[in-house]
Amino acid sequence: MSVLACDVGGTRIKVGLVSDGQLLATQTLDAAIQEGLGRSLVRIGEALQVVCEQAGIEPSACRGIGMGLAALVDWRQCRVIDPHSKYTDAEAVDLNVWARETFGLPLAADNDARAALLGEWTYGAGRGSDNLGVITLGTGIGTAVGIDGHVLRGPNFRTGNFCGHMIVAADGRTCGVCGMRGCVEAETGSAQLPDVAQRMYGFAQSALSQCDRIDYAAVCRCAAEVDPVAAALLGRATYLWSVLCVNMIHAFDLDRIVFGGGVMGSAEMILPPIQEFVDRHVCAPAGASRVQIISAEQPDHMALLGCEALVDEKLSFSHAV
Ligand SMILES: [Zn+2]
Repeated sequence: MSVLACDVGGTRIKVGLVSDGQLLATQTLDAAIQEGLGRSLVRIGEALQVVCEQAGIEPSACRGIGMGLAALVDWRQCRVIDPHSKYTDAEAVDLNVWARETFGLPLAADNDARAALLGEWTYGAGRGSDNLGVITLGTGIGTAVGIDGHVLRGPNFRTGNFCGHMIVAADGRTCGVCGMRGCVEAETGSAQLPDVAQRMYGFAQSALSQCDRIDYAAVCRCAAEVDPVAAALLGRATYLWSVLCVNMIHAFDLDRIVFGGGVMGSAEMILPPIQEFVDRHVCAPAGASRVQIISAEQPDHMALLGCEALVDEKLSFSHAV
């Protein structure tokens, strides 16, 4: 049986139909945060109907709906408890009622990085790891952690979710989410990238200044053509992501970190220097295995694919109590 999946991000909403770790059909919508989550759910429901038609599967034949949100989520209640400045109506939206009234299906909801972690652990690049971290590079920097085979959530659902707000530049840019200066998200989130780039010395002469859109794909493309500003930007981001990895490994004793997000299309430019930094700077007692830094198998669809594992986890939990 398949699962209806929704990845509700800050810029885009992806919906899909997932079965045994495979994406059978998918659609992408603009997030339109200003319309609120309540109204977005109407569009999400319509798009889920479309992907079911594309795959020739009735929604009623699915075993549940999985939803990953770029927010702090009470996964037991399927309730957003902090929308991170996105979807300001989210805390008042009853996601369970929407799932039941729209599709007659049970819902499993969690933070999008946690959904990605579960998916990578079950079907993807996390298989075989006992102590896994996930970092999703996008509008923001999402993180999640699992230790000894269990997803970490914590009494307030924060555990492992806020590593993107670890401070890596104490006098750096102010973050619109955590309010601190110099967190990884404020320094390297793609939402900040155009402003960071335009403040770089030499930007006006850089190939980046000619790009319609300044994102990490453009930065990697220009850096590959030896544009000095793009190379400096990529080097800076890669260094800060390396520091994040070392911080997470020291905090949680991870044996593997899986990176996701569209920027992994240029993984060969990003992950080798991070692996080299981690090898050099992680405190590793004699006999400890090397911590692996790798890309998700489908980095663009991590959270969407993870919705299947999220539903299975919720259903097994429901049956156990
Ligand atoms: Zn922050």
